[in-house]
Amino acid sequence: MADLKIRKIPDSILRKKAAKVDKVSDKEKKVLADMAETMYLNQGVGLAAVQVGIDRQLAVIDVGDGLIKLINPVIVKKDGQETQEEGCLSVPEVTVKVKRAKTVHVNFLNEEGEVIQLRAEGLLARAIQHEIDHLSGVLIVDHLNPIQKLLLKKKPTLSKTAKRI
Ligand code: ZN
Repeated sequence: MADLKIRKIPDSILRKKAAKVDKVSDKEKKVLADMAETMYLNQGVGLAAVQVGIDRQLAVIDVGDGLIKLINPVIVKKDGQETQEEGCLSVPEVTVKVKRAKTVHVNFLNEEGEVIQLRAEGLLARAIQHEIDHLSGVLIVDHLNPIQKLLLKKKPTLSKTAKRI
């Protein structure tokens, strides 16, 4: 069973912009399968490849409705706004209120290399936006303003119910 090592802040790979996948090969399929196992073992609802040290545009998500594997995901449309407490497997001991779009339309490649269009809302939409942030080197703490960042240093918030993405 693959239990990949999850990179945590301040690991510099978390700040890298992940490279696009040109062709989906067995290598990418193996990485996605290993990432899914690692996500489940760590009770996360999403995981991006940079979090396991691979700077490629790959992510896995399962918010309870089944596993989704995303290759080169791009948000093409956003609607509404919603603020919710979020955790991250790479940012331990902290949860952050993050304002995100309520609904997103995302395009990505599946393992067969086909372009998939998906409309997502709620936690799935949140997880997709969180993973796409990871693929651009963005972390939940970047959504805080400087004052909130200072407050977090003094007294970290940790919501037990917030999902780790
Ligand atoms: Zn995360």
